[in-house]
Amino acid sequence: MELRIGWLYPKLMSTYGDRGNVICLQKRAQWRGFDVTLVPLDRQSEAAQFATVDLIVGGGAQDRQQEIVMRDLQGAKAIALKEKLDTGTPGVFTCGSPQLLGKYYEPALGQRIEGLGVLDLETKHPGLEAPRCIGNVVFEITASPLAEDLQAQLGEPPIVIGFENHGGRTYLGNVAPLGKVIQGYGNNGQDGWEGAFHRHAIATYSHGPLLPKNPFLADWLIQKALQEKYQTAISLAPLDNTTATQARKAMFERLELSSRVKTA
Ligand code: GLN
Repeated sequence: MELRIGWLYPKLMSTYGDRGNVICLQKRAQWRGFDVTLVPLDRQSEAAQFATVDLIVGGGAQDRQQEIVMRDLQGAKAIALKEKLDTGTPGVFTCGSPQLLGKYYEPALGQRIEGLGVLDLETKHPGLEAPRCIGNVVFEITASPLAEDLQAQLGEPPIVIGFENHGGRTYLGNVAPLGKVIQGYGNNGQDGWEGAFHRHAIATYSHGPLLPKNPFLADWLIQKALQEKYQTAISLAPLDNTTATQARKAMFERLELSSRVKTA
């Protein structure tokens, strides 16, 4: 079986280390014996290329790069990406990427940039004087059916740990939040929500990168992508997660959350 991973604008949207998500997905699929093809989806790509992928990864970007991407991701490419996500292609989109999948992004400087409207959310940067939302972030996944799937697999509530670094504040409309903040800012530092969830697409402010720190999310995405593609039940062989588990434990201790967060 082959997994084709589409990577949105690798050169422009790799500022915050989210390339680690691509490597994590690639390795965890290969270790189970699946063939993996990485497909860059960038300014040189035709819209038809977007239709060929089974899983989509989008990373964070600074405002200037994000604006270039949002200007390129119009017309046929925008339609193709929207079609993929609306019809259940899984994806993981971090920080700048969810902002461009939303209705619009208002940067600190310059004009409002229209988004794709795949996710019913809006993002505004309150200006260069406002502090950025930076630091470790911990949240519990609440989006359904993702939360139930993960709870069944882990035997405990799924807790994500990541690192956020954003100026934009995101406000959700008619879209489910990904989770509830335990520590950190999340979408806007006010309403307690983190990220968004649409069909099989995960949108989050968590860098880290997200997937190596929370490998259960990587496996959920791989499983869903293969099931959608081959229309058959896929069960993934377990992998040795000792290093990730130890890293999570160390971070929960450092953040003094060990007593509140059972998962390690
Ligand atoms: N430019 C966006 C912001 O500052 C996204 C930053 C990011 O992707 N980390 O809000």
